[in-house]
Amino acid sequence: MQVPFLDLKRQYEMLKPELDEVVREVLAEQRFVGGPRVASFEQAFARAHQVRYCIGVGNATDALFIILKALGIGPGDEVIVPAHGWLSAAEMVLLAGAQPVFADVCADSYCIDPSDVEARITVHTRAIIPIHLYGQMADMEGLQQLATRHDILLIEDCAQAHFASQSGRMAGSIGVAGAFSFYPSKLLGAMGDGGCITTDDIVLAEKCRAIANHGGKEKNDHQLPGLNSRLDTLQAAILECKLQHAGDWITGRNHVAGSYNNSFKDIDQITSPQISLGNAHNYHLYVLRIQQRDQLKAHLESAGIQTEIHYPLASPFTPAFAAMGHSEADFPVSVRLQTELLSIPVYATMTHDEVKYIVRTVRNFYKR
Ligand SMILES: *Cc1c(COP(=O)(O)O)cnc(C)c1O
Repeated sequence: MQVPFLDLKRQYEMLKPELDEVVREVLAEQRFVGGPRVASFEQAFARAHQVRYCIGVGNATDALFIILKALGIGPGDEVIVPAHGWLSAAEMVLLAGAQPVFADVCADSYCIDPSDVEARITVHTRAIIPIHLYGQMADMEGLQQLATRHDILLIEDCAQAHFASQSGRMAGSIGVAGAFSFYPSKLLGAMGDGGCITTDDIVLAEKCRAIANHGGKEKNDHQLPGLNSRLDTLQAAILECKLQHAGDWITGRNHVAGSYNNSFKDIDQITSPQISLGNAHNYHLYVLRIQQRDQLKAHLESAGIQTEIHYPLASPFTPAFAAMGHSEADFPVSVRLQTELLSIPVYATMTHDEVKYIVRTVRNFYKR
């Protein structure tokens, strides 16, 4: 049996009639940038995430850059980001002219650790960018206490956290702004790149929208220097169509994750994802924490089961940030996660047999 890590073809097959129809409509309209379809998707996405404003942009990396620019974060400022996770936030802090400051993550949630964040706060700290990693939210209550006490902003990296929530509050609705990705493999994926910014602050929303569009509301309106980063019309139409199915996909993913959790709980060598109190997980990824990670990966691959490593190297140790001169002792948890995490397939269209096959193959490895 071959089990791909993610099978977008199956998702397309299920939605083909409606997706083909909206694509046909957009092609017939020949309007590819802006317009009512983009506004309609933005409103639907904002509603689903309990925020007032949603601004479609080119991708989540741009979203983070635009938020930082709109908040006036730049030279002389420090922004705290997690050492473990995708590196967009750290990159964009640097490109905005500010200084990224890495903090370690929690050993259970893999999200940024508020106590380590606290140790790295200085008079220059302007913001913290938690990543809601793998589909569950970082400890926003802990971070909010720090933010309030030190007068620091929270910007949420929600690229993996569509529809995730914490104590009933949606990802992207707690900090000053949230950045979402619609990269094809994300929980809500476009057919190309896409992203958005969420916020409740109308001034920030308008500033972000302007920066994403050459600094103005319309052509030849340039209130400030900006860039070109827009969610295009075709992607917005596709996303609005897919948005209606996201709830079912999360239910399906939770079902698969539940089977894994049950099947692995008697294996001492496996730590399944641990859900922090109050969190609703979207299972964007199902990440095992294990010893002998590379051997298990090889065992699964040889059985036709595709897996991924998120992430082989903690951000501070990538060549992009090597100049900061960090050592492994600075981020003990992140360092261990480099060799202990393995993501196995989780998606709503997996068959019962595929899940059973993966469970059996993992169990065989530990029984040898
Ligand atoms: C995918 C991802 C991003 C970047 O998203 P793009 O839309 O590809 O720019 C940022 N942060 C995290 C945590 C991600 O997983």
